[in-house]
Amino acid sequence: MRYLVLTDIHANFEALEVCLADAGRRGYDQTLVLGDLVGYGADPNAVVERIQGLKPLALVRGNHDKVACGLEQAEGFNSVARNAARWTLEVLTPEHRTWLADLPQGPHDVDDLIQICHGSPFDEDAYIFDELDAVRALKLSSRPLCLFGHTHYPITFELSPEGFDSIGPSGAAVTELRMKNGSKYLVNPGSVGQPRDGDARAAYAIADAGDRKVELFRLNYPVEEAQAKVIKAGLPEVLAQRLALGR
Ligand code: ZN
Repeated sequence: MRYLVLTDIHANFEALEVCLADAGRRGYDQTLVLGDLVGYGADPNAVVERIQGLKPLALVRGNHDKVACGLEQAEGFNSVARNAARWTLEVLTPEHRTWLADLPQGPHDVDDLIQICHGSPFDEDAYIFDELDAVRALKLSSRPLCLFGHTHYPITFELSPEGFDSIGPSGAAVTELRMKNGSKYLVNPGSVGQPRDGDARAAYAIADAGDRKVELFRLNYPVEEAQAKVIKAGLPEVLAQRLALGR
């Protein structure tokens, strides 16, 4: 089974389309979505519709999904994120708001190999950046491979009998992770629609359960088109600027 893995799309339709076209060429069987479909970007309705059309096998909600559909208040959001969340809440159709509000909370076990979550397996809203939290998540995860998002930073953490290791973004267009027996992995594919590792390219992954490997991809997409829509929508300009910086 080959799983297309998408996270932190953030209403960036241009980035999503490029990832889907690339994944379509490579081939996959099912789709897993790790949350934050909306928020920040200018196309929340189009992105929700596109994801619905993929009929994902599993999907968990992100913190921006919760706020954008009115399920939670924007406490803890900075003013730019709050502004974008308010805009998103206004433009989402009632059907899409309801659909987002009904998204399940992670973690979710996909099969014997894979678990998915938005932030971490111990707290859907927690950010995993450092070794302490990564090891906690690795130990808590119910599966050998836990796929997560939320930080918008592509990274692989490995806990093996030999110890702990992490592999950050390499800059390569394709990075392959081969899973070893006896190791546990925590993998963030990076954000589809708002990368934050200094690389503006869209990020997604394909996890192959049969071959026990994960491929991480980076793709150029029409950033200027996404930026123009952000400006036209009246969203904070900084949200357009950061797309070009990958920050
Ligand atoms: Zn996010």
